[in-house]
Amino acid sequence: MFSYRHAFHAGNHADVLKHMVLLATLKHLTQKDSPIAVFDTHAGAGLYRLDGDYAQTSGEAADGFLRLRTPPAATDAAAKKKAPLILAPALQDYMDMVASFNAKGSHKVYPGSPFIIQRLLRERDKLKLFELHPTDSKTLTANIAQLEAGRQVAVLREDGFEGLKKFLPPPQRRALVLSDPSYEVKSDYGRVVAMIGDALTRFAVGTYAVWYPIIPRPEAHDVPRKLKTLATKAGRSWLQATLTVKNSKITTDAAGEEHRPGLPASGMFLINPPHTLKAALQAALPQMVELLGQDRHAQFTLEAGG
Ligand code: SAM
Repeated sequence: MFSYRHAFHAGNHADVLKHMVLLATLKHLTQKDSPIAVFDTHAGAGLYRLDGDYAQTSGEAADGFLRLRTPPAATDAAAKKKAPLILAPALQDYMDMVASFNAKGSHKVYPGSPFIIQRLLRERDKLKLFELHPTDSKTLTANIAQLEAGRQVAVLREDGFEGLKKFLPPPQRRALVLSDPSYEVKSDYGRVVAMIGDALTRFAVGTYAVWYPIIPRPEAHDVPRKLKTLATKAGRSWLQATLTVKNSKITTDAAGEEHRPGLPASGMFLINPPHTLKAALQAALPQMVELLGQDRHAQFTLEAGG
């Protein structure tokens, strides 16, 4: 049933968007003294080796976070003259976070959402990680065990869509839920929306962050549209950020061979986002377009409401 392995995609442009938004969001939420419960409904393996077989098979990090680290060399005289880009604070925080998992100057390890979250937690905060894939859940358990975080972090080999229900509302009365399904099965699109709808009835004041792919599929387009409707109906604020790095069209070369572009774009939809997030993303997203964009179709959108 499960063929998706995040190790093939670790550090790609979608991870940059997701993890930068996650970091900025949790950094804000942990500024307040009171404890917070964090849930990662689709946690993955936790840590990824960029020099391992999986990551090298696709090399997606090369077109993702590695481009922020080493901007492509300037080719024309005008570009060479341009001052080096100073990264926006949210992007710099993200790059510093990834760097903190690596020896100085190297980039062998990429932290997934569980490790990014865990780094920001205080002793009083709790983290629950759901991962259903037998191998990834075992790897995640082993990776988390090394942190010796005790009862602060729990790995659950359960369906995250269903499993979240029993934890809401959390005793802390403050929560961040990250939902990052693989959308490997078509039903994930509907299930993520249903999960957020249910979660809002249990705990309307939680912060919810959903990653979704932007691909030519009606179910994918429906995700942010339906989440916006849920937020609006519940009277909650929302924010939607998207990043497109290349054309989504399937092209045919001179030999008549079809080329599929791979994931061209993705989005993050948040309900009850931190009030600081929009400004942080307004500074970061144009830089992401500049650094991660692969053709003239590269662009971002940023909208908020409620
Ligand atoms: N959130 C991770 C990160 O940012 O590092 C990446 C997660 S990856 C996109 C999605 C993961 O969800 C995969 O590891 C997959 O095995 C797992 N998965 C798929 N269906 C699931 C379900 N119903 N409940 C929990 N995990 C699931």
